[in-house]
Amino acid sequence: MAKKANSSNHCSFCGRSEQEVNLLISGMTGYICDMCAEQAHEIVNDTFKSSTKSDPGISLTSLPKPAQIKEFLDQYVIKQDNAKRFLSVSVYNHYKRILQKNLKDDVEIEKSNIIMVGATGTGKTLLARTIAKMLHVPFTIVDATVLTEAGYVGEDIESILTRLLQVADYDVNAAERGIVFIDEIDKIARKSDNPSITRDVSGEGVQQGLLKLLEGSVVNVPPQGGRKHPEQRMIAVNTKNILFICGGAFDGIEKKIAQRLNTRVVGYAASSDKANIDRNNLLKYITPPDLKSFGLIPEIIGRLPILTYLEPLDRDALLRILTEPKNSIIKQYQKLFDMDGVTLSFDQGTYEYIVDKAIEFRLGARGLRSIVEAIMIDAMFTLPSEEKKKLHVTRDYAIHQLENSDFHHLRVA
Ligand code: ADP
Repeated sequence: MAKKANSSNHCSFCGRSEQEVNLLISGMTGYICDMCAEQAHEIVNDTFKSSTKSDPGISLTSLPKPAQIKEFLDQYVIKQDNAKRFLSVSVYNHYKRILQKNLKDDVEIEKSNIIMVGATGTGKTLLARTIAKMLHVPFTIVDATVLTEAGYVGEDIESILTRLLQVADYDVNAAERGIVFIDEIDKIARKSDNPSITRDVSGEGVQQGLLKLLEGSVVNVPPQGGRKHPEQRMIAVNTKNILFICGGAFDGIEKKIAQRLNTRVVGYAASSDKANIDRNNLLKYITPPDLKSFGLIPEIIGRLPILTYLEPLDRDALLRILTEPKNSIIKQYQKLFDMDGVTLSFDQGTYEYIVDKAIEFRLGARGLRSIVEAIMIDAMFTLPSEEKKKLHVTRDYAIHQLENSDFHHLRVA
């Protein structure tokens, strides 16, 4: 054990005497001063950080199998089996692709970027976030609506990579294996399927820029974001191994799917096919040409080979979302109360009331939290200063709380 040295001793690292330093610690055969000890600590930290960061720690044997990835997703995301299966497989293949070392046989596994189509609030972001949580890789979410072509007001396409670098702590190696979730990809669709229309700044130009990232290229990224300028130092990032997951609601695409299905049925398929079509979930039949007719350019569609959909969430799904996921809204409130020593419980009727209100106000899964918050706010305010150790929320209590809250402001017109 190191002990404080006496006055005639010197630091074995920098040679300063005890009078020149704040503290000199003695070891078995020498001494170290407080400044050298701090410096040594920093060196250890840096070395440790860079060695763990540049080693992805992935091997084919340690890689979770698609079924395991799906099981993990099941703990957090309700329904959406199709999207979960596609995501699990493509993430698994993505890492196999990174791990393929010797390309002796000329078989190069191509990148499996994904596009998820589904109404807002059905779990697209949640799925991407959950996957990233499981894999411990740098992950960032960007909103396609803020992206513009270079030279226009908005963010350059490269800002996507700046964010990834920032979450990777500027470890380029780690960022180059990361996952980027591009939300609202449908908002950069060309306004018309007709390519000859006058130049469309917000849509097609951004898609062209995005294409460069999706297909894999070395991009110079401004480390602090913002616009590129000549004196700025750039970091070169290769996007070859970055997995891109895109999501969008594609409002109105069902009409295009229905039209297509109809022509096909009338055209050459058996009439019994028509009867089997699930009209409540037309997204299930989405194909790449539908994305094209919505306004994505064919090159982008080609770079997003995995196309999957999210199902609309019905009453039953919303009820499950409220209580079932590992960090469900109800579990989170129970934990909050538990920290004050209060046991929180609910009637089944309360859950049903919350879900019915979310449906009535057309808020979907996203609205559940604000409804629960409105019901619980009074109790959260008063209970911590009371002696009560239990709170049971009945349907009547919930109705009373919600009707006396400002919740009606959330009502969708
Ligand atoms: P999207 O990206 O499709 O618009 P999100 O993933 O952001 O929707 O969902 C918003 C919120 O709604 C999530 O944070 C989550 O609390 C809840 N949610 C939505 N869909 C699901 C689902 N399938 N399972 C569990 N929770 C969900």
